[in-house]
Amino acid sequence: MSTDYYEILGVARDATPEQIKKAYRRLARELHPDVARGDGAEERFKDVSRAYEVLSNPEKRAMYDRGVDPAAPGGGAGGFGGAGFGFQDIFETFFGAAPGAQRGPVPRARRGQDALVRLEISLADAVFGARREVQVDTAVVCPTCQGSCCRPGTSPRTCEVCGGRGVVQRVARSFLGQVMTSSPCGACQGFGTVIPDPCPECSGDGRVRSRRTLTVDIPAGVDTGTRIKLTGQGEVGPGGGPAGDVYLEIRERPHETFVRRGDDLHCTLPVPMTAAALGTVVELDTLDGPVQVDVAPGTQPGAVVVEKGLGVGRLHVGGRGDLHVHVDVQVPTGLDDEQVELLRRLAELRGEERPPARLAPVSSGVFAKLRDRLAGR
Ligand SMILES: [Zn+2]
Ligand SMILES: [Zn+2]
Repeated sequence: MSTDYYEILGVARDATPEQIKKAYRRLARELHPDVARGDGAEERFKDVSRAYEVLSNPEKRAMYDRGVDPAAPGGGAGGFGGAGFGFQDIFETFFGAAPGAQRGPVPRARRGQDALVRLEISLADAVFGARREVQVDTAVVCPTCQGSCCRPGTSPRTCEVCGGRGVVQRVARSFLGQVMTSSPCGACQGFGTVIPDPCPECSGDGRVRSRRTLTVDIPAGVDTGTRIKLTGQGEVGPGGGPAGDVYLEIRERPHETFVRRGDDLHCTLPVPMTAAALGTVVELDTLDGPVQVDVAPGTQPGAVVVEKGLGVGRLHVGGRGDLHVHVDVQVPTGLDDEQVELLRRLAELRGEERPPARLAPVSSGVFAKLRDRLAGR
């Protein structure tokens, strides 16, 4: 049976799209598996469908007219079943090399991969920035062959199989006649050269693994998850190719007394009830050293004293966040007789022996404070 799509559809080579459509409809009605009985009807239906698929599409039809069957089985995107070569070969034969197709030898040296290194820092490092030494374990250029992959004193030799072109061509036969196809040379893996005497240190890879110490300036303001790029410090590529980059991923260790929220620091300062009532000055040990914190007379539980500019350095923009000192007023316990007497006297003087059972409005009570604190106010 014919393999010519025009013959299968029974139309002339110069048939119009309308004529092709008409022919297909007639044949499809006749041969449809739901209708047709008899030997070969199903096969013929498939042939007709394939012929129509190609001839109804102007691009595919033009291709077919040039001798290329875009619908042929066995070639992935097309190709000639059984002829032993793929669509790309045919494509190259007719249209020159396809995008990405290999034309000449490929370079032996290729860019290396990026490397990720995790680095744990203290809160102080994040606040002020720091210079740190970081150990990285990556491929580096082989010191013995300097990336040439050859034993010192020897050099690569032109591949005899492909003559240095990195590709081999062969002639295949098809119904189109002789077709030239090309594929990467197996003897040299497409490099065009072979290494007769590989470097003994790197086994001809041009690179070896090495542990190095890098000095890194960590800017103030980095946070857990921040990545710092160290350009060109990553893995050297095969054949001593250019190195990838190193990414330092920061993890900030939690601090014992300070909590970080963005660029601000928060801490809790316990203050005795008497000091909160009378007011006092507390010397606070901050990351910047001792700082005098003013607790005003009548400071309430949960009050916040803001120390401007004692927070975390701001990444990229400069300046620093603030330190929020949360005052935790401590009610005295374990009072002796004298202290009880004093407090009774104080209560008397303030008329607070029997405080009124008056509820605070929600907007000013402890829940409002809690909400404000959660909202970071
Ligand atoms: Zn080497
Ligand atoms: Zn070769």
